[in-house]
Amino acid sequence: MADEPSPPIPRDLHCEYEERAFRHCTRCGETLEDDQGGFQISKAYKKGECVMEYALCDHCRIAMMEEFSQESKKRLSDYQHENVDLHRGLHHCSVCGVARSEEGMDDFVITGICEGVHLIHSIMVCGKCGDGIQELISVKTRDTWRRFVDENFPGPPSEGEYPEIEEVPSPHAIPVFTTQG
Ligand SMILES: [Zn+2]
Ligand SMILES: [Zn+2]
Repeated sequence: MADEPSPPIPRDLHCEYEERAFRHCTRCGETLEDDQGGFQISKAYKKGECVMEYALCDHCRIAMMEEFSQESKKRLSDYQHENVDLHRGLHHCSVCGVARSEEGMDDFVITGICEGVHLIHSIMVCGKCGDGIQELISVKTRDTWRRFVDENFPGPPSEGEYPEIEEVPSPHAIPVFTTQG
């Protein structure tokens, strides 16, 4: 299994808004296809609906991570080593192993690292585990994340459209992949 060529980016990781694969970095607008080093796609689901989605080119992914506090990065990488299995794919929580198909599994984040049109790596984190990870990161790091959201998701969203966006358990989706290669 491990030696199979990389599969194409699955429909699951397509842009809901455009109903096709992501083409540009949400942060800088760079064309993803030309991106060297692997871009990241993340989608957060609440109550079974995609409430936020973004793609980050390699450059922006690193830039975002650099803004995370040392303390947060350390905690996240420790947590990753101890708790995260990066090989469960998009359908099972990389932390607790719960299946997305399980009843009541409506909140989760899926993340893929892609290159060109291929999916290199993918993980899912359930809402419960995501909340736990959220608690590991510092206020400063949460601010970095909030700024990214404010700058890239033009608002204000109509009331309730992005429920408790600060709590969307996504920031961890970036550092979970700090150890690429
Ligand atoms: Zn970018
Ligand atoms: Zn879980």
